[in-house]
Order: sequence, then C-alpha cells, then structure tokens
Amino acid sequence: SKVLLTGASGYIAQHVTSELLSHGFQVVGTVRRQEQADQLHKQFSEEVPALQKNPFLLTYVLVPEIGAPDAFDEVLQSTPDITYVLHTASPFNFKDEGPLEDVYLKPAVEGTRNILSAVKKFANDYVKNVVVTSSFASVMNVDKFEDKSFIHTEKVWNNNTWDQTKGGDKVVAYVISKKEAEKAAWDFVEKEKPNFKLTTVLPPYVFGPQKFDISAKKESLNTSAEIVGSLLHTKYPSDDKLFDDSVNISADVRDVALYHVLPLLNADLASKRLIVVQGKFSTQRILNIINEHIPELKGKIAVGKPEGAAKLEALKAPEYNNSVTIGLTGVDPIPLTKTIVDSVEQILRANK
Ligand code: NDP
Repeated sequence: SKVLLTGASGYIAQHVTSELLSHGFQVVGTVRRQEQADQLHKQFSEEVPALQKNPFLLTYVLVPEIGAPDAFDEVLQSTPDITYVLHTASPFNFKDEGPLEDVYLKPAVEGTRNILSAVKKFANDYVKNVVVTSSFASVMNVDKFEDKSFIHTEKVWNNNTWDQTKGGDKVVAYVISKKEAEKAAWDFVEKEKPNFKLTTVLPPYVFGPQKFDISAKKESLNTSAEIVGSLLHTKYPSDDKLFDDSVNISADVRDVALYHVLPLLNADLASKRLIVVQGKFSTQRILNIINEHIPELKGKIAVGKPEGAAKLEALKAPEYNNSVTIGLTGVDPIPLTKTIVDSVEQILRANK
C-alpha cells in the first residue's frame, strides 16, 4: 500500500523512507525543491534493489511551504489510493531569521492542520492511519527536570505557553511549536471526526547516523546530530564550558523511524502517543563514549570530567516512564553507545 510522507528530505524522514521501503510500502514523499527529490531518488535507488526494478515505488511531489493555506490539498487530490500518511515536516533549525511566530509556530501548527484537513477532504475513504511526528518537547516540564518525583509519561503535557517566547528564544519557540502542533492534531481528530486513526510519535533528542554518508559532511548536519558533530571539534584535554550543556533523554534515529511505521502494522497503536527513548544522556556521556570507542580521536578531543556524567544525568535529566509505549511496541531500544559510535564513524568516513 501507498504511504504519503511529508518533509521527506529530513534527517528522520530519510530513515523513515528506508524503513517503509524495507517493509514493502510504496512511498510518496513531499519535499520543497525538485533537486531534493532527484537526489533522494538517486540515493535510494543505489541502495534498494526493488527500486531499480520499479522506480515508482518511491516518488516525490513538491510542497514548498507546509504552512501556506491548503498546502496539501493538491497532493491529496492528485495522488490516488493513499492508505497511510506520515507527517514529519516541521521547522527544526535555529538559523532561520524572522518573527518566531512565522518561523516556528505557524508552519508547525498550520502544517499539521493542513495535512489532516486535506486527508479528510480528499482521502477520507482511503486513509486508515495518520502518524504525526511530535516530540518529547510536548511532554516535558522543564521546571520539573530536577524534581525526581515528577515522572514524564505519555499522559503528560508541556506546561509552557507561547507567551514564554517573548524573550526571543528560538529553542523555546521550537519547543512550544511542537506542543501546539500536537495539540492541534488531537483537537482536529476530536472535532472533525475523520475516518483515520491518529498516532503521535514523541522522540526526545534524536542521535544516530545520517541515512546517507554524504549528509554527514560537516556543514550539513541537522540540529540534533550537530550536538555530536560539534564535540569532534573540542580541544584536548578539556573544554570546560561545554559539559553542562545538554542533559536530557535521547533516541536513536533508526528506532524513531521504526516507530513511525509500527502504527501501520499494529492496530493497537491507534490513538496513542508513543514516547521513544533509549535513556538519559549528557554531553559528557557522549564524550566518554567517543573517547572510549573511537581510538583515532583519542588525545584529540576533550575529555572533560568522565566520572561526572552519571551524577549530572541523575540530577538534571528529566525522570520518565514510557512503559505504556514499550508495552505496546515491544521494541528494545538501540543503546546510546551504538548510536554515538555509528554517528561518529560516519562523520569520520564522510570527511576523509
Ligand atoms: P530536519 O530539519 O532534518 O527535517 C525537517 C523537515 O521538515 C525537512 O524535510 C524540511 O525541509 C521540512 N520543513 C521544515 N519546515 C518546513 C516548511 N515550512 N515547509 C515545508 N517543509 C518544511 O529535522 P529532523 O529530521 O530532525 O525533524 C523531523 C521531525 O522530527 C520534525 O517534526 C521535528 O520537530 C521532529 N523531532 C526531531 C527531533 C530531533 O532531535 N531531531 C526530536 C523530536 C522531534 P527542508 O529540508 O527543505 O528544510
């Protein structure tokens, strides 16, 4: 059956494409520009034998701006027989300039409403499931990270509101855009009662290799992978200011991709929020993994305070419990060590 995948050029979405193809789905991806479509089709064709026989197993259509009015109507009207829709497109970079509302909130929220309403208007009789990529951002209560009695679960919602972006913080704007987009998706289902079932996937920090080595060249790493990439430019033996930076929870991009496909295979995942997570991490922990497992970087990058990682994580990372998700999916997460080793080895390979 046929799957429509929005934001198909993205870091996560390229892995989703791969996962869909390997499960035998036909994929129609939306991208902003024709060059992206051509490059991705070429890359996947080199890797997936089935595509060499039938190039139409993967096609692309252009949707330049997901937040524009009725952005997805034409695609849904002109693409017959779509059974599933995966909506991953959402602004996630901190380089774009402009009013935060236009850069983050509108594309996130309107983009989500646009895809859902296009599905209802033009494919209500065909589409069975819609999966929206939300984020742990829409669960996390940042003010509770150090309160060890506060457990983040599938039932919890982020307690921030758009007012908190007044200071101009792009990260806060991104976080709230994700929460509002997920809320908009559940509200749509409640009010519009479409035929499809909604599932949301909520990854925290996503790490792991790019789908294709060429994307691991230094300039082009996406926002979350760049956290790992930037550590390769630290100074031996120490670079003190770095190590308190990111303390949170993470997931491997390949698990995140799998979680987008599972709702298409397992009806129990309908109407659920799925938190996909491998565990707590800190920048110090990532450094420890690199120093321990990548001999060619030993003595070249920062060491920091290796023994400090566990304490930092116990203190500052959010407490979570995603046992509902694990109970439903049965997925055993890829461990952080593999995630980081695979990412770093790819970066080194790509930049040789
Ligand atoms: P990327 O930036 O690699 O992917 C984002 C995708 O969305 C790209 O295809 C991008 O197109 C597209 N996009 C963004 N804004 C628009 C817009 N206004 N109109 C049309 N297309 C747009 O990031 P990720 O792969 O990491 O993110 C994918 C999804 O996962 C997002 O919804 C993100 O919020 C979510 N997520 C990511 C996490 C992470 O740590 N990486 C954690 C939790 C959630 P283009 O490439 O042309 O810019």
